[in-house]
Amino acid sequence: MNSKIWLSSPHMGGNEQKYVNEAFETNWIAPLGPHVDGFEKDLSAYTDVKHAAALSSGTAAIHLALIMLGVQAGDEVICQSMTFSASANPIAYLGAVPVFIDSETDTWNMCPVFLLKAIKDRLAKGKKPKAIIPVHLYGMPAKMDEILAIAKEYDIPVVEDAAEALGSSINGKSAGSFGTLGILSFNGNKIITTSGGGALISDNEDFIKKSRFLATQARDAAPHYQHSEIGYNYRMSNVCAAIGRGQMEVLDDHIDNRRANFEFYKNELSSIDGITFLEEPEGYRSNRWLSTILIDPKLTDGITREDIRLDLEKDNIESRPLWKPMHLQPVFENSPYYGNGISEELFKNGLCIPSGSNLERQDLERVVGKIKNLMCTRKIPISG
Ligand SMILES: *Cc1c(COP(=O)(O)O)cnc(C)c1O
Repeated sequence: MNSKIWLSSPHMGGNEQKYVNEAFETNWIAPLGPHVDGFEKDLSAYTDVKHAAALSSGTAAIHLALIMLGVQAGDEVICQSMTFSASANPIAYLGAVPVFIDSETDTWNMCPVFLLKAIKDRLAKGKKPKAIIPVHLYGMPAKMDEILAIAKEYDIPVVEDAAEALGSSINGKSAGSFGTLGILSFNGNKIITTSGGGALISDNEDFIKKSRFLATQARDAAPHYQHSEIGYNYRMSNVCAAIGRGQMEVLDDHIDNRRANFEFYKNELSSIDGITFLEEPEGYRSNRWLSTILIDPKLTDGITREDIRLDLEKDNIESRPLWKPMHLQPVFENSPYYGNGISEELFKNGLCIPSGSNLERQDLERVVGKIKNLMCTRKIPISG
């Protein structure tokens, strides 16, 4: 059996271990400490957002962001439909209702046309949405200009889910810095990892201070344990933050590597009929967290993304369909949805292929070889 090629695996730079040792040597083995403070400063400087709170996960960051915006039971929150469930789950934690929006074809993210339609319709039904959650899928920034203009017109705050897009930008402005609040994730498969972790970022200092307070069980200022609010245990460990500090040193290298993966795939595969790639709109820069392809079975003699996925799997190569839209998920089947089927189509025909920053040239060649081979064999006409 050939060695396993993962979709996206952790990639240490070298100094992580040293910083973790530092945490041990100074006995800062707790969900606070100098590495937590340092990591927050690193994130804030990198994204050019004034304040950051390092947390136990990106999901926790979304949960706290929605609490900051006053989301309560029975409220509605608008969310991109094509995404990981973690974008929408915190809406449900609060007893609020997600309203899902379809994707557009330029970035695969929240469609501004259906966003506007949804807001108008919810208002007509007597409900003003409490927040809008666009997502920068696979590192490609959403159409933030359009989304922010609509959000501004209707005075609805934006929580930017930049879990997959650390290092991406539009005209030089960082993903995560556009909304009232932005969230990042450092889960094991993300562009940098702290083994598990996330962050909430915002120019609003009160939001970040309050989030840190709620993330540490909402302890009032008193010598004993006193609480006037429900708190959470959402802070990042100093050991995890140590890993994060090392990872920040190699983030730009990771982006270069992932972008090079994408270029390699595009050069090798885009001449094949029926395989297309998502290009960057002008001014957009994607970190290319995951390289993705669309397969049009009408142009591939019927070969589908599932045929490719299974064929890669046989050779120990991991690939995965694009995110299944939330409005198609059993758990959200009763939630409102506005769209015209773009995200469904993307889910049907899209595939994420191995994208790690630690892939070797020979790994990429193996992936490409497999796909080319499958495409060619099917193209040979079967004769009598
Ligand atoms: C990974 C991810 C999250 C959640 O982050 P965790 O740190 O795993 O909780 C949220 N949204 C999107 C789009 C993600 O990919």
